[in-house]
Amino acid sequence: MAQAARFPLPTPEIHVWVAYLTARCNFACDYCIQKPRMIPGQRRKPWGRYRELTGRQWVDALNAFPVRPEHPLILTGGEPSLHKDFAFIASRLDGYELDMTSNLTFDIDAFAREMRAHGKTFKTSFHTYHPQFLSPEKWLDQAERLRDSGIVEQPTFSMVNLQRFPHFRSDEHDANMRRMIELADRRGLVYQFNEFRGTHMGEGFNREHKYRIECTSAWVNIDPEGSVYNCQYHLTERRNSFGNILDVGSLRPLPAFGEFFACRDFGYCDPCHENSGHGAFRDEHGRVFRRTDDDARVYLEWMEPPAMRAIARRYFAQGDFEEAEYALLCAIKKQRDGQSNDGETWADLGVTLYELGKKKQSLAALLHAIESGVTRTETVASALVVARELALVDHARQVILRRVPAQLLAPIERALDELRPADPLATTAPRGA
Ligand code: SF4
Ligand code: SF4
Repeated sequence: MAQAARFPLPTPEIHVWVAYLTARCNFACDYCIQKPRMIPGQRRKPWGRYRELTGRQWVDALNAFPVRPEHPLILTGGEPSLHKDFAFIASRLDGYELDMTSNLTFDIDAFAREMRAHGKTFKTSFHTYHPQFLSPEKWLDQAERLRDSGIVEQPTFSMVNLQRFPHFRSDEHDANMRRMIELADRRGLVYQFNEFRGTHMGEGFNREHKYRIECTSAWVNIDPEGSVYNCQYHLTERRNSFGNILDVGSLRPLPAFGEFFACRDFGYCDPCHENSGHGAFRDEHGRVFRRTDDDARVYLEWMEPPAMRAIARRYFAQGDFEEAEYALLCAIKKQRDGQSNDGETWADLGVTLYELGKKKQSLAALLHAIESGVTRTETVASALVVARELALVDHARQVILRRVPAQLLAPIERALDELRPADPLATTAPRGA
């Protein structure tokens, strides 16, 4: 549909229109990008309290617009299905191509009935599996029900790719993800992995610094009360509103596509929109850039040593030994800053360094762990294995005997002697973290 003269909200496809029906969500993912600070362990909360527009208000306002966006109108939240009139809104909007973002916890059959009764469908939809809040079986049932309902032309099912970001994972997360992938493959559900958008130019979204910059983020973001903002940060903070959809006369024009405008809030931006590939920034030197760096290491800054060690173990399990080493060194540094010394961290570091081929450092770390009181058989055996490879057994034995009685050390050495030399690493390499 052609844009009516002087209607203030831009409609070209680059200007995505998003109706945030609610700020509420029934989940609280700690990797959710709708958080003021992207800090591991900090779960999402509603970003504000709203007197949410009713379904009738949404429908009357949006249906009265003389224009329609080229890009589908996205119904989202929070979780949009928590809006009491979600089905009413979706099934009564006229002339819009619809998209929704939902965690799929709503009654799909009832929703589909309402849509069919009004001859409406969604053009697209986007559904991500959140493994700490729903079992794989339940989500898959819901995904298949939606896919087969016919009310969405092109549904997309996805998982967040946190391979490089164990900071936002847990054992439950990993177990459910493994199960999900296995089941989805077996049941033939097509899915994709999403980029994790929580990092920003090599820094976490920590809202520590604001910069003056020029920006092109001109989304049509409508908050739960109907106010319009150009980006998610301004929406969640209710800054620089362009007016309200209930009063079209109040709407001010949003910038045109590609038009740079000044903003003093760069650095506080939410990671979502400005990372979407649509937006660009221009710094004071005239350099145009998008987000380019997604350094996972920044998240360690906010973590305590036990959590860092857990992260290292996840990295180790997935074969990212350099990242595991880095996380363990950060843990050790933080422990030292706090004037403590955890031998278990050193033991983990020892086996990690071995995997990296840093055998001397590995032995030093393992012996330090033993000196710090970690005298488990596997740690002692690991130290001896590395020491044998480096021809430093006498030195290692001397250190170990300060903590381990000779009568306990002897059987460990005998057991190592009995292992088959033909395949020494398969049987004697230090045990994984
Ligand atoms: S389900 Fe989506 S909106 Fe809700 S907390 Fe999780 S990532 Fe955020
Ligand atoms: S610089 Fe950031 S806060 Fe400012 S308009 Fe752009 S996306 Fe929004």
